Amino acid sequence: MQSIFDFNFQEFTDFSVNELGASKFLASQVFDWVYRKKNFDVSTWLNVSKINREKLQNLLDFSLPEVIWVGESKDGTRKFLLRMGDNESIECVVIPSKERRTLCVSSQVGCAIGCTFCHTGTQGLTRHLKTSEIIGQYMKISLWLESKDALPISNIVYMGQGEPLHNYEKVKKSAEIFLEPKGLGLGQRRITLSTSGLVPKIEKLFDFPPVNIAISLHSARNDIRSELMPINKVYDLERLFKAIKSIPLKASRRITYEYILIKDLNDTKEDLRALINLLDRRESKVNIIPFNEYPESTFKRPSDATIKWFNESLNESGLTSTIRVSKGDDILAACGQLKSEHEKKNLWSADKKREIENLKSQHVYR
Ligand code: SAH
Ligand code: SF4
Repeated sequence: MQSIFDFNFQEFTDFSVNELGASKFLASQVFDWVYRKKNFDVSTWLNVSKINREKLQNLLDFSLPEVIWVGESKDGTRKFLLRMGDNESIECVVIPSKERRTLCVSSQVGCAIGCTFCHTGTQGLTRHLKTSEIIGQYMKISLWLESKDALPISNIVYMGQGEPLHNYEKVKKSAEIFLEPKGLGLGQRRITLSTSGLVPKIEKLFDFPPVNIAISLHSARNDIRSELMPINKVYDLERLFKAIKSIPLKASRRITYEYILIKDLNDTKEDLRALINLLDRRESKVNIIPFNEYPESTFKRPSDATIKWFNESLNESGLTSTIRVSKGDDILAACGQLKSEHEKKNLWSADKKREIENLKSQHVYR
Protein backbone atom coordinates (compact mmCIF):
# COMPACT_ATOMS: atom_id res chain seq x y z
CA MET A 1 0.00 0.00 0.00
CA GLN A 2 1.18 3.49 -0.75
CA SER A 3 1.35 6.01 2.05
CA ILE A 4 -0.88 9.05 1.56
CA PHE A 5 2.00 11.08 3.02
CA ASP A 6 4.23 10.21 0.05
CA PHE A 7 2.19 12.23 -2.46
CA ASN A 8 2.57 15.90 -3.26
CA PHE A 9 -0.59 17.61 -4.49
CA GLN A 10 0.17 17.18 -8.19
CA GLU A 11 0.95 13.49 -7.73
CA PHE A 12 -2.25 12.95 -5.80
CA THR A 13 -4.25 14.74 -8.48
CA ASP A 14 -2.74 12.40 -11.09
CA PHE A 15 -3.42 9.41 -8.82
CA SER A 16 -7.07 10.46 -8.38
CA VAL A 17 -7.63 10.77 -12.11
CA ASN A 18 -5.51 7.87 -13.39
CA GLU A 19 -5.73 5.25 -10.64
CA LEU A 20 -9.11 5.98 -9.10
CA GLY A 21 -10.91 7.26 -12.17
CA ALA A 22 -12.11 10.16 -10.04
CA SER A 23 -12.18 13.88 -10.78
CA LYS A 24 -9.29 16.24 -10.05
CA PHE A 25 -11.35 17.76 -7.28
CA LEU A 26 -10.91 14.64 -5.13
CA ALA A 27 -7.31 15.66 -4.45
CA SER A 28 -8.44 18.97 -2.89
CA GLN A 29 -10.96 17.14 -0.72
CA VAL A 30 -8.45 14.53 0.44
CA PHE A 31 -5.73 17.12 1.21
CA ASP A 32 -8.30 19.09 3.19
CA TRP A 33 -9.29 16.06 5.30
CA VAL A 34 -5.76 14.82 5.82
CA TYR A 35 -3.73 17.99 6.27
CA ARG A 36 -6.20 20.64 7.43
CA LYS A 37 -8.64 18.56 9.47
CA LYS A 38 -6.10 15.83 10.33
CA ASN A 39 -8.89 13.28 10.05
CA PHE A 40 -7.65 9.93 8.69
CA ASP A 41 -10.91 8.04 9.14
CA VAL A 42 -11.99 7.83 5.50
CA SER A 43 -15.43 6.47 6.43
CA THR A 44 -16.29 9.90 7.91
CA TRP A 45 -15.39 11.84 4.73
CA LEU A 46 -19.00 12.30 3.74
CA ASN A 47 -18.33 14.83 0.97
CA VAL A 48 -16.52 12.01 -0.89
CA SER A 49 -18.62 9.44 -2.72
CA LYS A 50 -18.93 5.99 -1.14
CA ILE A 51 -17.17 4.33 -4.03
CA ASN A 52 -14.19 6.70 -3.81
CA ARG A 53 -14.05 6.28 -0.04
CA GLU A 54 -13.78 2.54 -0.50
CA LYS A 55 -11.05 2.88 -3.11
CA LEU A 56 -9.09 5.28 -0.92
CA GLN A 57 -9.37 2.95 2.05
CA ASN A 58 -8.21 -0.04 0.05
CA LEU A 59 -5.31 1.63 -1.71
CA LEU A 60 -3.81 4.02 0.81
CA ASP A 61 -1.92 3.69 4.04
CA PHE A 62 -2.55 6.43 6.62
CA SER A 63 -0.29 5.11 9.34
CA LEU A 64 2.19 7.38 11.12
CA PRO A 65 5.35 6.64 13.07
CA GLU A 66 4.83 5.66 16.68
CA VAL A 67 6.01 7.80 19.60
CA ILE A 68 8.14 5.53 21.79
CA TRP A 69 9.71 8.07 24.10
CA VAL A 70 9.16 11.73 24.96
CA GLY A 71 11.57 13.82 27.00
CA GLU A 72 10.64 17.24 28.28
CA SER A 73 13.29 19.72 29.27
CA LYS A 74 12.96 22.40 31.94
CA ASP A 75 12.96 25.03 29.18
CA GLY A 76 9.97 23.39 27.46
CA THR A 77 11.95 21.67 24.68
CA ARG A 78 10.45 18.29 23.91
CA LYS A 79 12.38 15.50 22.31
CA PHE A 80 10.57 12.61 20.65
CA LEU A 81 11.86 9.22 19.68
CA LEU A 82 9.70 7.82 16.87
CA ARG A 83 9.62 4.27 15.57
CA MET A 84 8.89 3.59 11.93
CA GLY A 85 7.38 0.58 10.18
CA ASP A 86 10.68 -1.32 9.92
CA ASN A 87 11.49 -0.71 13.62
CA GLU A 88 14.16 1.88 12.87
CA SER A 89 13.88 4.88 15.11
CA ILE A 90 14.46 8.58 14.54
CA GLU A 91 14.32 11.59 16.73
CA CYS A 92 12.77 14.99 16.40
CA VAL A 93 12.64 17.95 18.72
CA VAL A 94 10.12 20.73 19.34
CA ILE A 95 11.82 23.91 20.51
CA PRO A 96 9.57 26.64 21.90
CA SER A 97 10.48 30.31 21.96
CA LYS A 98 8.45 33.43 22.65
CA GLU A 99 6.77 33.58 19.27
CA ARG A 100 7.52 30.17 17.65
CA ARG A 101 7.43 26.44 18.14
CA THR A 102 10.06 24.99 15.85
CA LEU A 103 10.02 21.35 14.84
CA CYS A 104 13.44 19.94 14.02
CA VAL A 105 12.97 17.00 11.64
CA SER A 106 15.33 14.19 10.67
CA SER A 107 15.94 13.35 7.02
CA GLN A 108 17.89 10.08 7.40
CA VAL A 109 18.48 7.34 9.94
CA GLY A 110 22.07 8.27 10.87
CA CYS A 111 24.25 10.28 8.50
CA ALA A 112 27.03 9.47 6.03
CA ILE A 113 28.87 12.79 6.24
CA GLY A 114 30.78 11.87 9.38
CA CYS A 115 31.44 15.29 10.95
CA THR A 116 33.82 14.67 13.83
CA PHE A 117 31.94 16.87 16.34
CA CYS A 118 28.52 15.34 15.65
CA HIS A 119 27.08 12.40 17.49
CA THR A 120 24.96 11.37 14.49
CA GLY A 121 28.07 11.57 12.34
CA THR A 122 29.75 8.90 14.43
CA GLN A 123 26.85 6.53 13.76
CA GLY A 124 27.13 6.41 9.96
CA LEU A 125 24.19 6.08 7.60
CA THR A 126 21.58 3.39 8.12
CA ARG A 127 19.08 4.54 5.50
CA HIS A 128 17.30 7.47 3.89
CA LEU A 129 13.85 8.45 5.16
CA LYS A 130 10.87 8.30 2.85
CA THR A 131 8.87 11.48 2.27
CA SER A 132 6.05 9.92 4.30
CA GLU A 133 8.43 9.45 7.23
CA ILE A 134 9.47 13.12 7.13
CA ILE A 135 5.86 14.31 6.85
CA GLY A 136 4.97 11.61 9.41
CA GLN A 137 7.19 13.32 12.02
CA TYR A 138 5.27 16.57 11.57
CA MET A 139 1.82 14.93 11.55
CA LYS A 140 2.50 12.69 14.53
CA ILE A 141 3.99 15.46 16.66
CA SER A 142 1.19 17.87 15.65
CA LEU A 143 -1.43 15.36 16.83
CA TRP A 144 0.54 14.69 20.00
CA LEU A 145 0.76 18.42 20.80
CA GLU A 146 -2.96 18.84 20.04
CA SER A 147 -3.80 16.01 22.46
CA LYS A 148 -1.91 17.90 25.18
CA ASP A 149 -3.59 21.20 24.31
CA ALA A 150 -0.14 22.57 23.47
CA LEU A 151 0.40 25.32 20.88
CA PRO A 152 0.90 24.06 17.30
CA ILE A 153 4.16 23.89 15.38
CA SER A 154 4.89 27.13 13.53
CA ASN A 155 8.31 26.49 11.96
CA ILE A 156 10.25 23.56 10.56
CA VAL A 157 14.01 23.11 10.38
CA TYR A 158 15.71 20.18 8.65
CA MET A 159 18.35 20.00 11.36
CA GLY A 160 17.71 16.64 12.98
CA GLN A 161 19.61 13.54 12.03
CA GLY A 162 20.92 13.23 8.52
CA GLU A 163 22.09 15.36 5.63
CA PRO A 164 18.89 16.50 3.89
CA LEU A 165 20.53 17.11 0.51
CA HIS A 166 21.91 13.56 0.47
CA ASN A 167 18.24 12.50 0.40
CA TYR A 168 17.39 15.26 -2.09
CA GLU A 169 14.28 13.97 -3.90
CA LYS A 170 12.46 12.74 -0.78
CA VAL A 171 13.28 15.89 1.15
CA LYS A 172 12.27 18.10 -1.76
CA LYS A 173 8.87 16.44 -1.93
CA SER A 174 8.42 16.81 1.83
CA ALA A 175 9.08 20.56 1.48
CA GLU A 176 6.49 20.75 -1.30
CA ILE A 177 3.93 19.08 0.99
CA PHE A 178 4.76 21.41 3.91
CA LEU A 179 4.25 24.40 1.60
CA GLU A 180 1.16 23.12 -0.27
CA PRO A 181 -1.55 25.84 -0.04
CA LYS A 182 -4.31 23.21 -0.29
CA GLY A 183 -2.80 21.30 2.63
CA LEU A 184 -0.47 22.36 5.42
CA GLY A 185 0.25 25.70 3.75
CA LEU A 186 3.31 26.64 5.82
CA GLY A 187 5.06 29.81 4.66
CA GLN A 188 8.38 29.60 2.83
CA ARG A 189 10.06 31.68 5.49
CA ARG A 190 8.98 29.25 8.19
CA ILE A 191 11.04 26.40 6.75
CA THR A 192 14.82 26.13 6.90
CA LEU A 193 16.97 23.50 5.28
CA SER A 194 20.44 23.02 6.71
CA THR A 195 23.25 21.40 4.74
CA SER A 196 26.83 20.47 5.46
CA GLY A 197 27.78 21.53 1.95
CA LEU A 198 26.96 18.80 -0.54
CA VAL A 199 28.01 20.92 -3.53
CA PRO A 200 26.38 19.01 -6.44
CA LYS A 201 23.04 19.22 -4.62
CA ILE A 202 23.48 22.87 -3.63
CA GLU A 203 23.84 23.51 -7.37
CA LYS A 204 20.39 21.93 -7.83
CA LEU A 205 18.68 24.20 -5.31
CA PHE A 206 17.23 26.39 -8.09
CA ASP A 207 14.88 23.43 -8.53
CA PHE A 208 13.96 23.27 -4.81
CA PRO A 209 11.02 25.09 -3.16
CA PRO A 210 12.29 28.53 -2.02
CA VAL A 211 12.79 27.78 1.68
CA ASN A 212 15.49 29.38 3.87
CA ILE A 213 18.91 27.83 3.44
CA ALA A 214 21.43 27.35 6.24
CA ILE A 215 24.98 26.22 5.55
CA SER A 216 26.90 24.40 8.28
CA LEU A 217 30.17 26.26 7.91
CA HIS A 218 31.89 25.78 11.30
CA SER A 219 35.18 27.16 9.99
CA ALA A 220 36.29 29.60 7.29
CA ARG A 221 39.71 27.90 7.08
CA ASN A 222 40.08 24.86 4.85
CA ASP A 223 42.48 22.94 7.10
CA ILE A 224 40.27 23.28 10.16
CA ARG A 225 37.02 22.72 8.29
CA SER A 226 38.45 19.50 6.81
CA GLU A 227 39.29 18.35 10.29
CA LEU A 228 35.75 18.97 11.50
CA MET A 229 33.89 17.99 8.34
CA PRO A 230 35.59 15.46 6.07
CA ILE A 231 33.26 16.58 3.24
CA ASN A 232 35.47 19.68 3.00
CA LYS A 233 38.27 17.49 1.62
CA VAL A 234 36.11 16.89 -1.43
CA TYR A 235 34.19 20.19 -1.65
CA ASP A 236 36.44 22.83 -0.12
CA LEU A 237 35.45 26.39 0.76
CA GLU A 238 36.17 27.67 -2.73
CA ARG A 239 33.89 25.10 -4.38
CA LEU A 240 31.29 25.50 -1.66
CA PHE A 241 31.05 29.26 -2.07
CA LYS A 242 30.96 29.02 -5.84
CA ALA A 243 27.94 26.71 -5.45
CA ILE A 244 26.33 28.98 -2.84
CA LYS A 245 26.46 31.86 -5.34
CA SER A 246 24.19 29.79 -7.61
CA ILE A 247 21.40 29.64 -5.01
CA PRO A 248 18.55 31.85 -6.19
CA LEU A 249 17.94 34.33 -3.37
CA LYS A 250 14.78 36.40 -3.36
CA ALA A 251 15.31 40.08 -2.51
CA SER A 252 15.88 40.59 1.24
CA ARG A 253 16.58 36.91 1.82
CA ARG A 254 19.90 35.80 3.26
CA ILE A 255 21.82 32.58 3.74
CA THR A 256 22.38 31.56 7.34
CA TYR A 257 25.84 30.27 8.22
CA GLU A 258 25.89 27.97 11.21
CA TYR A 259 29.10 28.07 13.18
CA ILE A 260 29.53 25.63 16.05
CA LEU A 261 32.04 27.33 18.30
CA ILE A 262 34.54 24.82 19.71
CA LYS A 263 37.16 25.66 22.32
CA ASP A 264 40.66 26.24 20.89
CA LEU A 265 39.62 24.82 17.53
CA ASN A 266 37.73 27.50 15.62
CA ASP A 267 37.39 30.27 18.21
CA THR A 268 40.63 32.25 17.80
CA LYS A 269 41.37 35.69 16.32
CA GLU A 270 42.58 34.03 13.15
CA ASP A 271 39.32 32.08 12.81
CA LEU A 272 37.34 35.25 13.31
CA ARG A 273 39.35 37.14 10.69
CA ALA A 274 38.92 34.33 8.15
CA LEU A 275 35.16 34.32 8.73
CA ILE A 276 34.87 38.09 8.37
CA ASN A 277 36.86 37.96 5.13
CA LEU A 278 34.84 35.11 3.69
CA LEU A 279 31.24 36.23 4.18
CA ASP A 280 29.30 38.80 2.22
CA ARG A 281 27.70 41.26 4.66
CA ARG A 282 24.48 41.82 2.73
CA GLU A 283 23.69 38.22 1.96
CA SER A 284 24.77 36.43 5.14
CA LYS A 285 23.65 35.87 8.69
CA VAL A 286 25.81 34.01 11.18
CA ASN A 287 24.35 31.74 13.82
CA ILE A 288 26.84 30.83 16.51
CA ILE A 289 26.14 27.52 18.22
CA PRO A 290 28.23 26.91 21.35
CA PHE A 291 29.40 23.28 21.14
CA ASN A 292 27.04 20.99 22.97
CA GLU A 293 29.33 18.66 24.94
CA TYR A 294 28.57 14.96 25.19
CA PRO A 295 30.44 12.22 27.04
CA GLU A 296 32.23 10.53 24.12
CA SER A 297 33.51 13.75 22.55
CA THR A 298 36.85 15.37 23.29
CA PHE A 299 35.68 18.76 21.95
CA LYS A 300 34.77 21.42 24.48
CA ARG A 301 32.49 24.41 24.63
CA PRO A 302 34.39 27.75 24.79
CA SER A 303 33.94 30.05 27.79
CA ASP A 304 30.94 32.39 27.81
CA ALA A 305 33.35 35.31 27.44
CA THR A 306 34.84 33.84 24.25
CA ILE A 307 31.41 33.14 22.80
CA LYS A 308 30.34 36.73 23.52
CA TRP A 309 33.57 38.18 22.11
CA PHE A 310 33.30 36.13 18.89
CA ASN A 311 29.69 37.21 18.35
CA GLU A 312 30.28 40.88 19.14
CA SER A 313 33.33 41.04 16.90
CA LEU A 314 31.31 39.67 13.99
CA ASN A 315 28.60 42.25 14.57
CA GLU A 316 31.18 45.04 14.83
CA SER A 317 32.58 43.98 11.46
CA GLY A 318 29.17 44.68 9.92
CA LEU A 319 27.99 41.06 9.75
CA THR A 320 24.71 40.04 11.37
CA SER A 321 25.42 37.44 14.02
CA THR A 322 23.46 35.85 16.86
CA ILE A 323 24.21 33.20 19.45
CA ARG A 324 21.84 30.24 19.42
CA VAL A 325 20.61 29.63 22.91
CA SER A 326 21.18 26.01 23.77
CA LYS A 327 17.91 24.25 24.46
CA GLY A 328 17.04 20.95 26.01
CA ASP A 329 20.52 20.17 27.41
CA ASP A 330 19.02 18.17 30.25
CA ILE A 331 17.28 15.73 27.86
CA LEU A 332 20.25 15.00 25.59
CA ALA A 333 19.04 17.29 22.82
CA ALA A 334 22.42 17.22 21.06
CA CYS A 335 22.18 15.83 17.57
CA GLY A 336 21.79 12.05 17.67
CA GLN A 337 22.49 11.57 21.35
CA LEU A 338 19.17 10.20 22.50
CA LYS A 339 18.86 7.63 19.77
CA SER A 340 22.24 6.10 20.54
CA GLU A 341 21.50 5.93 24.23
CA HIS A 342 18.31 4.13 23.33
CA GLU A 343 20.03 1.78 20.91
CA LYS A 344 22.56 0.74 23.48
CA LYS A 345 19.69 -0.59 25.52
CA ASN A 346 17.92 -1.96 22.48
CA LEU A 347 18.66 -5.53 21.59
CA TRP A 348 19.35 -5.88 17.92
CA SER A 349 20.05 -9.16 16.18
CA ALA A 350 23.66 -9.83 15.19
CA ASP A 351 22.62 -9.77 11.50
CA LYS A 352 20.97 -6.41 11.85
CA LYS A 353 24.02 -4.99 13.62
CA ARG A 354 26.29 -6.29 10.83
CA GLU A 355 24.05 -4.78 8.16
CA ILE A 356 24.17 -1.44 9.94
CA GLU A 357 27.95 -1.56 10.36
CA ASN A 358 28.20 -2.20 6.63
CA LEU A 359 26.09 0.81 5.76
CA LYS A 360 27.93 2.95 8.25
CA SER A 361 31.18 2.39 6.41
CA GLN A 362 29.73 3.87 3.20
CA HIS A 363 30.48 7.53 2.87
CA VAL A 364 28.49 9.62 0.45
CA TYR A 365 31.33 11.70 -0.92
CA ARG A 366 33.87 8.98 -1.43
N1 SAH B 1 23.29 17.52 8.36
C1 SAH B 1 22.87 18.86 8.23
C2 SAH B 1 21.58 19.06 8.96
C3 SAH B 1 21.59 19.28 10.40
S1 SAH B 1 22.81 18.44 11.36
C4 SAH B 1 23.94 19.83 8.62
O1 SAH B 1 24.96 19.41 9.15
O2 SAH B 1 23.75 21.02 8.35
C5 SAH B 1 22.28 18.82 12.92
C6 SAH B 1 22.62 20.15 13.53
O3 SAH B 1 23.18 19.94 14.77
C7 SAH B 1 23.60 21.01 12.75
O4 SAH B 1 23.22 22.36 12.84
C8 SAH B 1 24.88 20.75 13.46
O5 SAH B 1 25.73 21.78 13.21
C9 SAH B 1 24.39 20.64 14.89
N2 SAH B 1 25.24 19.87 15.80
C10 SAH B 1 25.69 18.63 15.63
N3 SAH B 1 26.44 18.26 16.69
C11 SAH B 1 26.45 19.30 17.54
C12 SAH B 1 27.05 19.54 18.82
N4 SAH B 1 27.75 18.62 19.42
N5 SAH B 1 26.83 20.75 19.40
C13 SAH B 1 26.09 21.69 18.79
N6 SAH B 1 25.49 21.51 17.60
C14 SAH B 1 25.68 20.34 16.98
FE1 SF4 C 1 25.61 14.66 9.33
FE2 SF4 C 1 24.94 17.19 9.91
FE3 SF4 C 1 25.91 15.55 11.82
FE4 SF4 C 1 27.53 16.44 9.89
S1 SF4 C 1 26.47 17.69 11.44
S2 SF4 C 1 27.39 14.31 10.61
S3 SF4 C 1 26.16 16.48 8.14
S4 SF4 C 1 23.99 15.30 10.73
